[in-house]
Amino acid sequence: MVVVMDSGAGEAQIEAVIEKLNGFGFDVHRSTGVNRSVLGAVGVKPEFDTRRIAVMDGVSDVFRVTEPYKFASRSWTDGPTTIEVGDVTIGGDRVVVMAGPCSVESEEQIAATAAFVASHGATVLRGGAFKPRSSPYSFQGLGSDGLRMLRDAADAHGLLVITEVMEVGHLDEVVAATDIIQVGARNMQNFPLLKELGKAERPVFLKRGLSATVDEWLMSAEYVMAHGNPYVILCERGIRTFETSTRNTLDLSAVPVVKSKSHLPVFVDPSHGVGIRNKVVPLARAAVAVGADGLMVEVHPNPDAALSDGPQSLYFEQFGELMDQIRIIAQAIGRTTDQPHVARSL
Ligand code: PEP
Ligand code: MN
Repeated sequence: MVVVMDSGAGEAQIEAVIEKLNGFGFDVHRSTGVNRSVLGAVGVKPEFDTRRIAVMDGVSDVFRVTEPYKFASRSWTDGPTTIEVGDVTIGGDRVVVMAGPCSVESEEQIAATAAFVASHGATVLRGGAFKPRSSPYSFQGLGSDGLRMLRDAADAHGLLVITEVMEVGHLDEVVAATDIIQVGARNMQNFPLLKELGKAERPVFLKRGLSATVDEWLMSAEYVMAHGNPYVILCERGIRTFETSTRNTLDLSAVPVVKSKSHLPVFVDPSHGVGIRNKVVPLARAAVAVGADGLMVEVHPNPDAALSDGPQSLYFEQFGELMDQIRIIAQAIGRTTDQPHVARSL
């Protein structure tokens, strides 16, 4: 940490800051300039709240040098981290595609989607059974029945499953049905849930909160990792900004930013990011180009009749085009979308 003193700071104020820093266990190196003094506080303390120093008399600025997280940080673990789930490697050369409807609605709907996305190169079937809806009057998901339908459909086509857990009380049931556990944007800072996920024996797919900074998002990953689960996949899914022309503002710059700060795999969900079907494919292309390790995309056999997020769900045909396009983009940047296993098709 670097502490810059005010130009008018007196010796007593500087001494007080040094004493305080020593009290917290930092070694302090002082540089006395013509106008102001700068203190270098040496000691790695991710939990230290820099405001304790910033509020002291005579202090102008405080800069953190190490991040407030440890397990999620590149400073502590060389990256990139790869996560093996079944025969799919996440975070490696392959761009992994997770696709499926927003919600599991029926056996027919999820079976048709699984067959189509598997035959076009997706390796993970998504589908919500417990849904976080903004309105209590909206479809809340099929719950346990939905989990079973999702698992059966995925198994029939050699796909892995990802689905969301909304509360600690559902965790055992969701773990039994899924290969990867999704934490939705609204739960990114549900700390009791994150702590429990630290004990779960499944990778955690952590979506970025609606108004979360990159550091807040990485602190949430830190919760899961610090509680024992090193397998965290991050997912950018759009943030709230002043712009209203899309549902959210998809922050693609977060991909290279997170990659420089963290060793964890980073995905992009353009469906929730823009909320409008015809903008999902261009942003999916951009996400692969910017270096995302994978995509999460909503696809539905009949989007116009979907019980949730129909306007952003792709028609099958659009999903096929998306896969053809990202295959070429992945190749151009030294990656691939080909999967090592052959998914069974219809
Ligand atoms: C979802 O994936 O269906 C979902 C609700 O996503 P988010 O948490 O990003 O809104
Ligand atoms: Mn959705």
